[in-house]
Amino acid sequence: MKTRIVEIEEEHIDQETIREAGEIIRSGGLVAFPTETVYGLGGDALNPASSRKIYEAKGRPSDNPLIVHIAKWEALSAIVKNIPEEAVRLAQVYWPGPLTMILEKSDLVPAETTGGLNTVAVRMPSHKTALAFIEAAGGYVAAPSANRSGRPSPTLARYVSQDLAGRIEMIIDGGDVELGLESTIVDLTAGTPVILRPGYITRVMLESTLGRVEEDVTILCDDSGQAPKAPGMKYRHYAPKGELTIISGPQQAVTDYINAQLDRYRTENKKTGVIASEATVSAYRADVCKNGGSRQDESALARRLYRILREFDDEDVEIIYAESFEGAGVGQAVMNRLLKAAGHRVTELK
Ligand code: AMP
Ligand code: MG
Repeated sequence: MKTRIVEIEEEHIDQETIREAGEIIRSGGLVAFPTETVYGLGGDALNPASSRKIYEAKGRPSDNPLIVHIAKWEALSAIVKNIPEEAVRLAQVYWPGPLTMILEKSDLVPAETTGGLNTVAVRMPSHKTALAFIEAAGGYVAAPSANRSGRPSPTLARYVSQDLAGRIEMIIDGGDVELGLESTIVDLTAGTPVILRPGYITRVMLESTLGRVEEDVTILCDDSGQAPKAPGMKYRHYAPKGELTIISGPQQAVTDYINAQLDRYRTENKKTGVIASEATVSAYRADVCKNGGSRQDESALARRLYRILREFDDEDVEIIYAESFEGAGVGQAVMNRLLKAAGHRVTELK
């Protein structure tokens, strides 16, 4: 299959191209498209054959459910059994935006789209091209991130193309994404709302709208005995090809430790990389040093992380060390993804 790549500027949306993209979805094909979080791989959410194609194109296990993207609030009622009060309040504040809600699904949504679950994940993105595309596609676009399974989520159309060219009909290139991390997922089907995946919309933000909100225990720890409630979280994700280890502790100890390891690997002719904050990155003796941005701005690394991981792959880096990036806000989501990329390999220094 030849994949058509089209550029669309968010501020000057070409309606004819959007119509063609929508037509591909309506006739059962797949289109990758930009959102404010990461690029999505879209298919018709109400067509079981389309969802099967998404799993196949991604190489994704079919028990890992897809997020259904809608473009207007009125679209929600057809795909869920009921709309709880919490969903109304969250939508008023955070939709369109990087928040996915888990709700009871209606019979309209095929089991293929929800990985066999009775619940459905729904999000209304804020990206204007995404909204126009979803409307043109019939209003319900199932879309996981547009990467091959196990690869970092794509933040540029170039990365979608690396992973999926030849496997899908079209890629809409909308340039760099705004946020760079996948949406926050909150489950509204089990009494107290539960965060299944952290993201830009933090627990504090959700609690200011809803009152008490819980967090799935598997978000930051590697408790292999516990099954995460978002099935996708159980798979090794976002993994670079090189071996990534996070080093935490007092800054000087971290820098000294990492440099000692780098020197050792150099004698073994291994290509090395480091992810560090703006303030410390120049202190490292790695072959490839990546600036994760200022520690004062937790969203800086969020925007860059997946790109950095892919660049390590492109440069065939074999051994990677990362400073630890904890934070109260989106920093928690960044750390969640970094820990997954590292397979929870962390060394804590005193
Ligand atoms: P992706 O869009 O690639 O980030 O993947 C979608 C994520 O949403 C996966 O981690 C899924 O496990 C999660 N998800 C989708 N639908 C549900 C659902 N009904 N219940 C729980 N998690 C879900
Ligand atoms: Mg994904």
